[in-house]
Amino acid sequence: MKRKHILGRISGITLLAFLSLFINQLLSSPERQDDVTSLHNQRTDIIEVHFIDVGQGDSILIETSDASMLIDAGENNKGTVVINYLKAQSIEKLDYVIGTHPHSDHIGGLDTVIKSIPVDNIILPPVSHTTQTYEEVLEAIEDADLQITMPVVGDKYTLGPATFTIIAPNSDDYQNLNNYSVGIKLTYGNNSFVFTGDAEALAEKEMLKNGLDLSADVFKLAHHGSNTSNSVDFLDEVDPTFAIISAGIDNEYGHPHSEVLQELSLRNTRLYRTDLQGTVVFTSDGKTISVNTSEYKLTEDDLLND
Ligand SMILES: [Zn+2]
Repeated sequence: MKRKHILGRISGITLLAFLSLFINQLLSSPERQDDVTSLHNQRTDIIEVHFIDVGQGDSILIETSDASMLIDAGENNKGTVVINYLKAQSIEKLDYVIGTHPHSDHIGGLDTVIKSIPVDNIILPPVSHTTQTYEEVLEAIEDADLQITMPVVGDKYTLGPATFTIIAPNSDDYQNLNNYSVGIKLTYGNNSFVFTGDAEALAEKEMLKNGLDLSADVFKLAHHGSNTSNSVDFLDEVDPTFAIISAGIDNEYGHPHSEVLQELSLRNTRLYRTDLQGTVVFTSDGKTISVNTSEYKLTEDDLLND
């Protein structure tokens, strides 16, 4: 009786072991792995470009399934706004951060960002600036043990399933800080985006000369839609379907300027504005682009010369 009982127990254990092996086998079977991969593919199939509303300034988050990048972080007091936005998007680290140029409406919030979230690479233009705001950014970079990467026109970087190419600056000797702006073209499948910070007409002319393909579906208008940037030749070359302006409502510079809005109107470019529409998000699947809000309709007032 006793022996039989032990045997019964042993076969029970054997059966359990066999069952658990079988279940493990099932869990790791190729079919199951394929399921996981296809779920993953669904996520890798889009990228999002967020123009975060930081008032008068720029802050752009580029998010893919497995990598993300931030271009600028608005004024000093907008660092928290940017960080809260990144957290809401579940961004845990930034593969790349670009500080386009040392003006406070672009790099002001960067120190807060660098202190709050791990950053792998930081790209800054080849120019120094002595404002406290800029010093704070450099200190944060040093504290985070980051090496600054200098932008070299033509250099190409991988960002998850997308790539970006440096298109500016094309010189290291400018009078106007805006012209040092790091410019990039982001490409995902057949879709592309051009960002040129606050690059002025002079820097745009140099970009046109450098021989890179500047055509893009989306152009973040330079310098908040100023008429000192966004020259006709540059708009002709980029030839965007969508234009986005990052600016503050009723800003003291009168951005965006009517001449630029008139140009967009002539070209039937679909326009979006953070000053009047808040944060604007573009989504690309590599073939088509969609936007989270309807396009801004220009008014007669917008088109009147200032
Ligand atoms: Zn600016």
